Amino acid sequence: MKVLVLNSGSSSIKYQLFDMRDESVLASGSIEQIGETGSHLSHRFRTPQGEMAKTVQALAIGDHRQGFELISSALRETGALADTGELMGIGHRVVHGGEKFKEPTRVTPEVLAAIRGLIPLAPLHNPANLLGMEVAMECAPSVPQVAVFDTAFHQSIPPHAYRYAIPKKLYEAHQVRRYGFHGTSHRYVAKKAAEFLKKPLDSLNLISLHLGNGASAAAIKRGKCIDTSMGLTPLEGLIMGTRCGDLDPAIIFYLERETGLAPKEIESILNKESGLKGICGANDMRTVGELAQAGNPEAQLAISMYCYRIKKYIGAYHAVLGGLDGLIFTGGIGENAEFIRAGCCKGLAHLGLEMDTEKNRRRQEGCAALEQGDSRVKILVIPTNEELEIAEQTVACLETEESGSTLCREKQ
Ligand code: ADP
Repeated sequence: MKVLVLNSGSSSIKYQLFDMRDESVLASGSIEQIGETGSHLSHRFRTPQGEMAKTVQALAIGDHRQGFELISSALRETGALADTGELMGIGHRVVHGGEKFKEPTRVTPEVLAAIRGLIPLAPLHNPANLLGMEVAMECAPSVPQVAVFDTAFHQSIPPHAYRYAIPKKLYEAHQVRRYGFHGTSHRYVAKKAAEFLKKPLDSLNLISLHLGNGASAAAIKRGKCIDTSMGLTPLEGLIMGTRCGDLDPAIIFYLERETGLAPKEIESILNKESGLKGICGANDMRTVGELAQAGNPEAQLAISMYCYRIKKYIGAYHAVLGGLDGLIFTGGIGENAEFIRAGCCKGLAHLGLEMDTEKNRRRQEGCAALEQGDSRVKILVIPTNEELEIAEQTVACLETEESGSTLCREKQ
C-alpha cells in the first residue's frame, strides 16, 4: 500500500514515498534547479539494514518529465518501488483550490482544467503544481492521482470572516476573498493535538500557529477552521521571513506616489524584502535570534514585533472561538525557537495561557505540552508533517471513491 507524494515547484520536485500500512517513509528527496545549470537529484532511501542513506547526483535535468523519470529510476534502483504500478496512488500538493475544491480530489482532465482556471489567484504556484500532475499522469497513467489543496481546510470559514469589506462585485467577478494557506499543516497538527490530548477533535477549540519561512495562524472550532490569518494571497497576517503580513493598504499607494516605484516593484518589496529581513536584515530566525542575543537592537525589535503580531491574533481568535483549549506551535520556528514560543505566550495568563519556562526550554523532539500544571489552556508543540497528511488524504479520497463506486455498482 505505497503512496507517492509530489510537491512540484517551477524548477523543483520534492517527493516522499510512504508505506501506508504503518505510515513509514520508504524514500524521499528532491530534484532542484530543473532546466538550469547545477540541476541535481538528492535521494534518501532505506537500506536493506533498515537505515536511511543518501545519494546526491548532479545531472542535466531539462524538464519536469525527465525529473519524474529520474525519481522513478532512483526509487527502483534503491529498492523502494519496483514499478510505478505498485503505487496505490500519487498525492499532489496544490497551493490554490479557490472556492471550488473543499476536499482532496481525484485528478481528471476536468479537474486539471479547473485548477488551470485558478492560475490568476496563484500565478507562481498553480502552474508548477499543474505541470507536476500532467507529467505524473503521462508517466504513470494507470496510477490514480489525487490533488490535495493548501486552501481546502479553510473552506469552512464563514462569509463574515472570509469576505473583505470592499464592493461585492469584486468578490463576485474576481473572487477577492480570504482563502488562507498552510491548510494541510493546520489540519494535521490539529488532528495530532487531539490525539496527544486524548480528546475528540470535535470537542476542542484550538489556535494553530504554523511558523516557518511563511507563517499563519488558524482558529479551529471543534475540528473546523473558522478563521485564518493569510488572505487572498499568503502576504496577509503574521510577520514572516521576508513577507510583511498585515499592512495598511494605503501604504502601497503612498509608496507609489512618493517613490515612483511600480506596483510590481512594491509587490516584490512586500513579499521578498520585508518581514524579519526588512526589519533587521536577516530572514532566518536562527540568525535573528543570534543577532538579538549579541545585543543587536534591530534583531531585538524584529523578535518583539514578530511575537506582538502573533499575540494580537491569539487574542482575536480566543475571542471568536469563545474560549480556548489549546495553542499549537508548529513549523521550523514554532517547533524549534523557544524564545519565540516564550515571547508569544508572555503576559497571557489572563487568557489562561501559562507557560512552564523549563518545559519550553527543555523541549525535545516530538509532541510536547509546555504549560504549567494549572494552566487552563494547553500549550503544545506538534511537529508538522504535510507530506504524511497528503498521503493520508490521498488514501482517504481513493477509499471514498472506491466505496462510492461499489455503492453505484450495487445500485445498478
Ligand atoms: P518552510 O516554511 O520553508 O518549510 P521551515 O518550517 O523549515 O520553513 O522553517 C524555517 C524557519 O525555521 C527558519 O526561519 C529557521 O531559521 C527556523 N528554525 C529552524 N530551526 C530553528 C532553531 N533551532 N531555532 C530558531 N529557528 C529555527
